[in-house]
Amino acid sequence: MGTIGQLRRVEDRLIKDLEKTTIPFLRLGKKYGVSKQAVFAFCNRRGIQRPEREHTEKCLICHRLIRFAKKPHSDFISSHTIKEQLGLSQGQFLYHLGILRKKGLISQKFGRLHSRKAERAYQIYFKNKLPVRAIGRQVGLKNFYSTIKTQKALGWDVPAPLFKYDSAYRRKILKMIRRKKRR
Ligand SMILES: [Zn+2]
Repeated sequence: MGTIGQLRRVEDRLIKDLEKTTIPFLRLGKKYGVSKQAVFAFCNRRGIQRPEREHTEKCLICHRLIRFAKKPHSDFISSHTIKEQLGLSQGQFLYHLGILRKKGLISQKFGRLHSRKAERAYQIYFKNKLPVRAIGRQVGLKNFYSTIKTQKALGWDVPAPLFKYDSAYRRKILKMIRRKKRR
């Protein structure tokens, strides 16, 4: 039986291998006599960041972030939701996201929306034919219109609203309201 000291030395060597080399998890597992998953779990638990070369398809976190970013309108999902759904800490999220952005593997805007209210508003905006103001009211966002305007100015690719301001339709509604009032 090994002592605690021996175990610590093994751990230290593994940490060094994880931090300084790009040896895949599978091979590290073989080297230390544990499963690939055990090495991966250890790496995550200790918050060890592997050298950048590994962060493409080989890194599980990057892989999941790339997959998430491929969903439609993913630029309009808030950072909180992404972290929650992928079970990532703030540190993990920013670290892997930074690498993917630098490599151009994800949209530069992915993960940059921080408002949950704006996320909810955009979800409605993409699905329903509703005026922008009505959407804002629904989610408790004071000025959704100016949020959209600001984000467009910052280079976000905000699609045109499904709701069209139709002046003929507007006149019809106004007429109906007036008629109701008369009754
Ligand atoms: Zn990664």
